[in-house]
Amino acid sequence: MSIPPSADFPIAIIGAGFSGLGTAIQLKKAGIDSFTIFERAGDVGGTWRDNTYPGAACDVPSHAYSLSFEQSPDWSRRFAESGEIHDYLRSITDKWKLREHTRFDTEIVDASFDENKGSWTLTTGDNETFTARVVVSCAGGLVDPATPDIKGLQSFTGELFHTARWKHDYDLSGRRVAVIGTGASAVQVVPNIAREVEHLDVYQRTPAWVVPKRDKVYSERFKRMLARFPFLLRASRFVQYWLSELMGPVIFLDNEWLASLGKKGSLLHLKAQVKDPELREKLMPDFQFGCKRILISDEYWSSFERPNVELVTDPIEEIKSTGIQSTDGTFREVDAIIVATGFDLGLANAPFPISGIGGRSIDEAWKDGAVAYKGISVSGFPNWFILMGPNTGPGHTSVLVYTEAQIAHTVAAIKKLRNEGVRYVDVRQDVQDRYNERLQGRMKYMVWSTGCNSWYLSPDGSNHSLYPGFAAEYVLRTRRFRERDYEIVR
Ligand SMILES: Cc1cc2nc3c(=O)[nH]c(=O)nc-3n(C[C@H](O)[C@H](O)[C@H](O)COP(=O)(O)OP(=O)(O)OC[C@H]3O[C@@H](n4cnc5c(N)ncnc54)[C@H](O)[C@@H]3O)c2cc1C
Repeated sequence: MSIPPSADFPIAIIGAGFSGLGTAIQLKKAGIDSFTIFERAGDVGGTWRDNTYPGAACDVPSHAYSLSFEQSPDWSRRFAESGEIHDYLRSITDKWKLREHTRFDTEIVDASFDENKGSWTLTTGDNETFTARVVVSCAGGLVDPATPDIKGLQSFTGELFHTARWKHDYDLSGRRVAVIGTGASAVQVVPNIAREVEHLDVYQRTPAWVVPKRDKVYSERFKRMLARFPFLLRASRFVQYWLSELMGPVIFLDNEWLASLGKKGSLLHLKAQVKDPELREKLMPDFQFGCKRILISDEYWSSFERPNVELVTDPIEEIKSTGIQSTDGTFREVDAIIVATGFDLGLANAPFPISGIGGRSIDEAWKDGAVAYKGISVSGFPNWFILMGPNTGPGHTSVLVYTEAQIAHTVAAIKKLRNEGVRYVDVRQDVQDRYNERLQGRMKYMVWSTGCNSWYLSPDGSNHSLYPGFAAEYVLRTRRFRERDYEIVR
């Protein structure tokens, strides 16, 4: 099957999260509506449809963690919870009538480029095919839950689930529960279930630097004021964005003095939250501030002071049918195990087999690590634009700042292709190589390269996920589509 004939310039958008919906809105604003969104799930929302665990919320203030061209005065608090973000995404979908452009429950499993026609053939999980002149891949950077490789995990006979696939029909109250992992999701989930469960074991491999969240509920009066004077909403976004940029060097630069400032703040927070010095010692990271993701919470560390919560730092040896055995020989029986071990990294991996010019596969192009020009275009894979691609993740601010620059770049390229009868645009190999050489050259000055083991890094220790610099710099370099960087084939 091909895209309906009325679509003069078929565009495929893969994924209906912030990136896919944001792209669709900007295309509509540009007067282009010949696009189809392919979404493997039954609803829009991406991250915020899937992560519904107790306490799931953004860790960038909502006035900044929302689209600049769809700002809302209605956020109920500084850091909105998952359900509210999902509602926001659903409301912009309806406002822009994007559901009629979307094929839900349709997973793209393969893509190949036809050089002569300048078009992509996409294949779905049901073996249907679609052709599109342009593909905007918005398949997500943190989308597929990572299952830890622990001996015996599948032999557990109680309830077992990942934070990103929360079982809402399973009542945790009065249960003995284990949480495996102490990253960004665990920090949100632990305090929220600690109150409910009979007993909670939290298995920690590496402690994390945690800083205060300072969340707050917005009053009705404040929201009415933002609605009435939209410049105040823009000002709030501006302040939040620039605060995170100004704090950026503390979080991403390999500079001991700056890191010591962050460390001091976090240690004060730890001291205020945990009175027991032995427990504090166990919760204190031994790597440089910023090397792994900084977590924000006002309640996580203090949860361990509760009598029903135990921090387990001995590594897990094996999971048995009724509980978890750690290497010191202790066996802890539990009714449920919650896996909070994050995601397979989509930022630095292809979401499915993709073949470009001459049938070359993306896996072959990325055999030494995922690379793209500005994280968006890969040489030899024309008319294919990635949002949240290699080296576009921030350590310090909202992902959406980067996403919006990628959308602007992509929409400008689409206009060029569509309005000028161009067959394809392919980023020049030398331009892509130069960009990545510079980018990797800067990595050595970044705190992520100071020796800790984090999900930011590929197995060989290289970093293909984060952008080494300020968001503002990335935006200024990216949002324009510079024709001279691309081979334009008519
Ligand atoms: C728990 C959590 C909290 C986060 N908090 C923040 C935060 O506070 N601030 C911040 O800046 N970032 C945060 N992030 C990062 C977040 O992922 C991004 O901010 C943003 O939501 C990504 O949007 P996206 O549209 O690019 O990807 P996603 O939201 O992941 O959406 C991708 C979509 O593509 C679909 N899809 C994937 N593969 C296919 C396929 N083959 N075919 C069809 N459809 C497909 C998926 O079903 C999904 O709907 C968080 C991430 C997580 C997991």
